[in-house]
Amino acid sequence: MAKQRIALDMDEVIADVRPKLLDAFEQLMGWRPSREEYAGKKIYDLAGAAEVRNVLHTKGFFADLPVMPGSREVVRELMEDYELFIITAAMEFRFSFEDKYDWLATNFPFIPWKNIVFCGDKRIIQADYMIDDHVRNLETFGGKGLLYTASHNLAETRFRRVNDWEDVRTFFEEEKKIRTGGY
Ligand SMILES: [Mg+2]
Repeated sequence: MAKQRIALDMDEVIADVRPKLLDAFEQLMGWRPSREEYAGKKIYDLAGAAEVRNVLHTKGFFADLPVMPGSREVVRELMEDYELFIITAAMEFRFSFEDKYDWLATNFPFIPWKNIVFCGDKRIIQADYMIDDHVRNLETFGGKGLLYTASHNLAETRFRRVNDWEDVRTFFEEEKKIRTGGY
């Protein structure tokens, strides 16, 4: 039987953009917002901070983002049972391509290049599961969508939520039990 397919997002799912965005915010605005202050939105959606988003267009921004805790281990486990693809909407940021490619080679060297998709609109993606922090990607997805918790999606209730990679592991363990009838 063919393996089921998982479409896995990068930013704010396996790569943590928050620390570098906070640094950019602080540099530009002169203060550093707390998690409570940007709850419900993106850091650059705070009043007067739109310019902070420009940092995403600079070469190197995506090259050294911290790896989300536990993601490497769980991704490696999932690859035993599933066909896993990295699906990242890289097209918006032309300098991100090389940075993201290198970042994956460094931090997830066990993901073959054939399983990496740099795309624009994720509506074209066909898979059984999608793990993403943006509801717009899950809304148009035909399979099961898992919403990875991020500041901007805290109020969302339509999708199965995963708060961290331990939650992702638990979800797929449950799926496996359902598939195999508990054995
Ligand atoms: Mg993302």
